[in-house]
Amino acid sequence: MEKKQFKAESKRLLHMMINSIYSQREIFLRELISNASDAIDKIYYKALTDESLRFDKDQYYIKVAADKENRILKISDTGIGMTKEELENNLGVIAKSGSLAFKNENELKDGHEIIGQFGVGFYSAFMAADHVTVISKALGHNEAYKWESEGADGYMIEPCEKDATGTEIMLKIKENTEDENYDEFLEEYRLKAIIKKHSDFIRYPIKMDVTGR
Ligand code: ADP
Ligand code: MG
Repeated sequence: MEKKQFKAESKRLLHMMINSIYSQREIFLRELISNASDAIDKIYYKALTDESLRFDKDQYYIKVAADKENRILKISDTGIGMTKEELENNLGVIAKSGSLAFKNENELKDGHEIIGQFGVGFYSAFMAADHVTVISKALGHNEAYKWESEGADGYMIEPCEKDATGTEIMLKIKENTEDENYDEFLEEYRLKAIIKKHSDFIRYPIKMDVTGR
């Protein structure tokens, strides 16, 4: 008898992920902040063994910026960034975790702080946004790339400009409907409360900037 592999219908899997894994929509922010923190941690761990790298704590932070006029919520970090291949593999393959791979490759034992492992948290962004853009520049690389998606229909990757190493995630926040409020994800007091509730343990500074009425 031949043992067969399960196949997955990726559009449906993504739909299920987005709509039924999480009980609260607001946790998308925790997921994106934890990815940002992991990305900074990766530079920290690399710097432990690579003498050419310095980890100067002041240079590393996470920023949450809301632009109410344009309904854009941006989560950016000064972490390790992603190459074109990493954008493709880590954001284009559901349940693939670059962070789990990083922990294995670097044989990180107990005491490390890297949170990621299941490779699904990122997609929770689509609970709050109908369009997600990721701009990233990987450590040690000169080119930056833009990954863009509206969810189930797939994604596009193209070269773009970015000065510093790191990642910017832009969420085009959904319009309110009769029973669902999305505007709250552009309000400073709500963002602060969500961060306090779910991301209080993050070791890097989380800066906040809200513009517009
Ligand atoms: P997990 O965090 O469990 O690995 P996610 O779906 O949250 O899964 O993220 C998938 C992968 O995408 C991460 O493992 C990481 O390799 C990559 N990634 C996501 N966000 C970032 C980021 N801000 N900077 C660098 N890499 C990231
Ligand atoms: Mg994650």
